[in-house]
Amino acid sequence: IKNIGVFTSGGDAPGMNAAIRAVVRAAMYYGIEVTGIRRGYDGMGKGEFVPMNRKSVSNIIQRGGTILKTARCDNFRTPEGRKNAYEQLVKHKVDALVAIGGDGTFTGAKVFGNEFDIPVVGLPGTIDNDLVGTDFTIGYDTAINTVVDAVDKIRDTAESHDRLFIVEVMGRDSGLIALRTGIATGAEAILIPESKTGLEGLFNRLEFGRKDKTSRIVIVAEGDDTAGGAFEVGRLVQEKFPNYDTRISILGHIQRGGAPSCMDRVLASRVGAAAVEALRDGHRNEMIGLINGEVAYTPFEHAIKHHQGIDPNMIKLVEMLSM
Ligand code: ATP
Repeated sequence: IKNIGVFTSGGDAPGMNAAIRAVVRAAMYYGIEVTGIRRGYDGMGKGEFVPMNRKSVSNIIQRGGTILKTARCDNFRTPEGRKNAYEQLVKHKVDALVAIGGDGTFTGAKVFGNEFDIPVVGLPGTIDNDLVGTDFTIGYDTAINTVVDAVDKIRDTAESHDRLFIVEVMGRDSGLIALRTGIATGAEAILIPESKTGLEGLFNRLEFGRKDKTSRIVIVAEGDDTAGGAFEVGRLVQEKFPNYDTRISILGHIQRGGAPSCMDRVLASRVGAAAVEALRDGHRNEMIGLINGEVAYTPFEHAIKHHQGIDPNMIKLVEMLSM
């Protein structure tokens, strides 16, 4: 391998820059050139290639977002789009790829790696933590700390006004952000796609929970379909409990930004360097993650299966400790 192309794709996540830096510096360490591909698969097809060196990744380990930018690209879903992207790689003499992104990115990488003779490995870069083959994804730790910080602030005002807050956090298909932050903020209840708490369950918790509580926080994952979003949950709670002063807060895109936490920087650095070593060792079509502190290689088709699974004990913990 002489020239590794690195790109970020899909939703951005804090720590992507630390991952890019690790790929570039590790490749340089092994005497391999690196080409940065801007805007994911879209930029690949359009030939947005930039040569990278040690200096081009200076002073980025602490920065949120991604210096290579990211994009979603429908054209890459077509055979012509992928053929075009491959031709650009050949033209720029890129002979291996490191894809940093989530399940969509790896689905594309899997198809591409099977169609063309180019080794591709992936790094788990998504705030959702919804990939199999790594304990944590790059960006998750930062995102949950951002949520905890925000909910702590909401708790202050909820407590002052005796209010109930419905807080919506990110996670279109996964409740992992909601679950962990629910435990960390002492939420009274969580609503996540993976659990069947439902409206009745929520009402029960509010009805039979401790009466002397002055503030209440319910965390709802974006993808929860209990009622169709936090606003609808809020409306139904208000209808059922007219005595509660209910407010809704959608945390939104602040969850994607900010300086990556130490955990995310170290994770990104470790898997970034391991990706370069994996390509040197002949790995392809695999995601490089960390399981119990050890580098783990998971075929793309397995990594994207989503079944990180929710530990029922964690759900129970929310109920047990918020009483
Ligand atoms: P996140 O989970 O943070 O949203 P992601 O990597 O899952 O990140 P997506 O937008 O789902 O983000 O996917 C990124 C890109 O991967 C898509 O815009 C598309 O170019 C490519 N992609 C996804 N699925 C396929 C597919 N089936 N075939 C080819 N390319 C695909």
